[in-house]
This record gives sequence, structure tokens and C-alpha cells, in this order.
Amino acid sequence: MPELPEITVLSKQMAKEITGKQIHKVEAYQPKCLNIPPERFVETAIGKTIGQIYSRGKWLFIKLEPDHYLLINLGMGADLLYFTPNSKLPEKYQFKLTFTDHSGFTIRFSWFGYIHLLPQKELNQHKLTAKLGVSASDKEFTKEYLQKLLEKRKARIKSLLLYQKNIAGIGNVYIQDILFNARLHPNRKAFTLSDQEISNLYNAIKTVLNSSIEKGGLAYEKNFYGQKGNFNIEDFQVGYKTGKHCPVCSTPIEKIRTGPTSSYICPKCQKL
Ligand SMILES: [Zn+2]
Repeated sequence: MPELPEITVLSKQMAKEITGKQIHKVEAYQPKCLNIPPERFVETAIGKTIGQIYSRGKWLFIKLEPDHYLLINLGMGADLLYFTPNSKLPEKYQFKLTFTDHSGFTIRFSWFGYIHLLPQKELNQHKLTAKLGVSASDKEFTKEYLQKLLEKRKARIKSLLLYQKNIAGIGNVYIQDILFNARLHPNRKAFTLSDQEISNLYNAIKTVLNSSIEKGGLAYEKNFYGQKGNFNIEDFQVGYKTGKHCPVCSTPIEKIRTGPTSSYICPKCQKL
């Protein structure tokens, strides 16, 4: 499942490749991914030009000049692939957007996702994105922001961090090493964290996400060009490493149940 690093990589590649291109044709074969009827979607999109592209949490925001936005969420996983007139198209896709220069992109969802088109003036009311918290990669995500989020909260630290209205972009993949780097047990109650622990957590979020962005994201997710990222299972410190040795103290890593999710922890470094 793509998380912040994969979506960040994708948005940068898309910005580089398709900004300024004009939409010539839209094919949408899965109406339930759309927020409006396919005919209206197609009619509205055609003729618009790609403006700024950025990501927030797990969402891609694509400005369609002059006055619309295309919002894409890849859900549990999807291939969003660039094509040029010379490239071979993927065998299956649910969405295809072609530009006037005959390049474009296709989307193939492995489970379900969203492709929403809306007027710019309705962006603030878009239910699924309007209440997203600041993205963990944004400038607004400061140590003070994190501190405010955690103080007086009885919730467990892991569920607080995964809740997208608090911080957008962290999911169950990267949270494992984030908590390990900060030496925090996933079930610690938020208000019990000391100032030092909050600092450590803040730095861990930045370090873990940036190290994956630098490697192009996860090895099992494809980028805009169909290439896989270079962040491999070996690059995790405790995530998905049940029974392997903790890189710090050599204690075997355990997989534990934490509410609805699984967690990988070093029982010695991450005491409750
Ligand atoms: Zn350890």
C-alpha cells in the first residue's frame, strides 16, 4: 500500500513529465471510483491544462487549469503509469488520460481507489481531503505541531499517528521503524511522552520517511515510469522482521497485535 514516500516520488515525477500538457481524451471504466458521472467527468476534463501537482498524505492533487482539481488516491495499491506514443500500454487499466501530444497516463487499481474531479472553489469542502492533517513532509509539520497533538491525549501513540486527520501520510508500513527509531512502544499513551521522547519521535518520522523517498519508495510499488523503488525489506530495521535480531541490542524482534493492526517491535528497546 503506497504511503507518503511513494506518493511523494510519484507526484514529483508527474510534475516533471506532464505539467503544462493539455488533456485531449479521458477514458474512465470504473464509475464508482469517480465522484461524478463518467460523461460529465470526461466533458469537464477535456481541454484543461495540467497545472501544479503536489501530494498531501496519500492523495495526489493535480490542478487542471484554469479552475479545476483532479484528486487521486491509489487506495490499497495501484499502478499509475506514464506512457508516450511509443510505449506499450499495460494490459489492464480502469482509467486513461491522453494529452494532445499523445502521451498520458493509465491507472490500474489493485483493489479500489478514487479519481475525483471538482471545481477549485469546492476543494475546501471535498469530504475525503478537506480534513486531512498536515502532511508529515510539509513545512507546517513541526515539533510544536506534534507536541500539541500528543499532549493530554489518552490514545495510544500508534493509533494517533496513523489517524490521517492528525498527520497525513503515515501508514502501517513505515510506522514500525518510526516507533523503533524513537524507542517507543506502539501502545504508549500519548500524554505520557516526555519532551525528549517527542523530539525523538519527530526526528524519527522525518528520518524514516526521507530515507525511503531518497530510495524512490518501496520495492513493491511502481513509480510513474513503471520502475520499482529501492527501499527493500532489508532496509527496514524492525518492520516485517519477526524473529530477526534487533539492530541495536540483538533481542529477537516480535510481532504483536495492537488494536486492528500488527506491530513489529524490539521488546527490549521499546518497553511499554
Ligand atoms: Zn533492541
